[in-house]
Amino acid sequence: MKITVSPSSNPISPTQRDQYLEEPGFGKYFTDHMAVAEWNQASGWSDLTISAYGPLNLDPAAMVFHYGQEIFEGMKAYYQPDGSIALFRPDANALRFAKSAARITLPELPVEDFVSAVEALVKQDAGWVPKKVGESLYLRPFMIATEVGLGVRPSNKALFAVIATPAAAYFNSAKAVTVWISLEYVRAVLGGTGEAKCGGNYAASLLAQQEAAKEGCDQVVWLDAKERFWVEEMGGMNLYFVKGRGKDATIFTPKLTGTLLHGITRDSILSVAKDLGYKVEEGMISIDQWRDGVASGDISEIFACGTAAVIAPVGSAKSKYGTWVTGDGNPGQITMEIRNHLLGIQHGTIPDKHGWMKRVI
Ligand SMILES: *Cc1c(COP(=O)(O)O)cnc(C)c1O
Repeated sequence: MKITVSPSSNPISPTQRDQYLEEPGFGKYFTDHMAVAEWNQASGWSDLTISAYGPLNLDPAAMVFHYGQEIFEGMKAYYQPDGSIALFRPDANALRFAKSAARITLPELPVEDFVSAVEALVKQDAGWVPKKVGESLYLRPFMIATEVGLGVRPSNKALFAVIATPAAAYFNSAKAVTVWISLEYVRAVLGGTGEAKCGGNYAASLLAQQEAAKEGCDQVVWLDAKERFWVEEMGGMNLYFVKGRGKDATIFTPKLTGTLLHGITRDSILSVAKDLGYKVEEGMISIDQWRDGVASGDISEIFACGTAAVIAPVGSAKSKYGTWVTGDGNPGQITMEIRNHLLGIQHGTIPDKHGWMKRVI
C-alpha cells in the first residue's frame, strides 16, 4: 500500500498541544492528522493518505449507518527513554483486525498495510506522544461499510481510517472499580460476534452498562449466555483472578470459549505473570466460585485488563444475589507488580524479551 502524506495546513500550535498533553484525558483531543484508505470490490485497496484530521464525507445511505458493518482496534504508541517511539504488539492488533473483518464480511487489510498505516500516522504526529509513565498515544484504527444502498448484504465498498488521541495514565487516580454482574443481558453467544471487535457488540452492551450505573457500579461483568453462570469479561476488558498469595499465587483468567474477545493485554499478562514466577491458568470460573473465593480469601485480588486502562483493579461485585468484596478497595500487590512490569516493557525500562515493542521513530 503506497502512502501519501499531505500535511495539515492548520495544525494545532505546539504551545496549545503541549497544554493538551499536560492533561490529556482519553479521547478528548485528537491529533492533527488521520490516515484513510478506501476499498472497493473491483479494484481493491487505494493508496493510504495521511492528511488533516477532519470530518468524513459520507452518503446517508452508506451501509454502515443502517446495518452496523463496522470493526475497530485499540492500540498504543509509547515514548521511550532514548527519545524514540514504539508501538506495543501492532502485529497482534493487525491480525485481530483481519479476523474481525472476516467475521463482519469487511475486506481483509493485510497485516503489513495495517501496521504501516498506524506507523505513518504516529510518525506524522510524533509530537503528540505524551512522555510520562502510563501515558501514551492511543490509536484507533477502524473500518466501515460505505456502499450506498439499503440492500442487506456485504458492502462492496469500505473505508479504513486511523485516528489518534493522547491518553493519560488511567491508573493514577485508581481505586478499585465496582462491577455489576448482569444476569439479564449478555454480551456474546457461541456463533455470534463475541470474538470480533465490532461496534455492534458495544451498541448491544450499553443498556447493561446503564443498568450497572443505576446500581452504583462502574462496569458490567458479562456471564455466559446459556447458563448465566460462567464469568466471561468486564465491559470491554478481560478479567483476571489471583488465587492464593505471594509467590505461590496462581494467576487465573477465563479461557477463550469462543465468546470472549481475544485481548492482547490478556495474552501478554499470561507471559508476564509466568516471567514473574507465578503459575498461570486458563479455565472456567462461576459466579458461585467468585462469591465463595472472595469470602474464604482464596481469591485475593481481581483485576481487569485491556489496552486503554492496561490494568484496573476490581473491588466490589454486585448482582441480584448480593455484594461480594475483594480486598480493601486498593489495588492488590500482585496486580500492581504485573501492571508495573507490563508498563515497564511498554515504556522501555524493562527488557522486552518477547519482542513486543516495534520502534516507529
Ligand atoms: C478490546 C477488548 C478487550 C481488550 O483487548 P486488548 O487487546 O487487551 O485491548 C477485551 N474485551 C473486549 C470486549 C474488547 O472489545
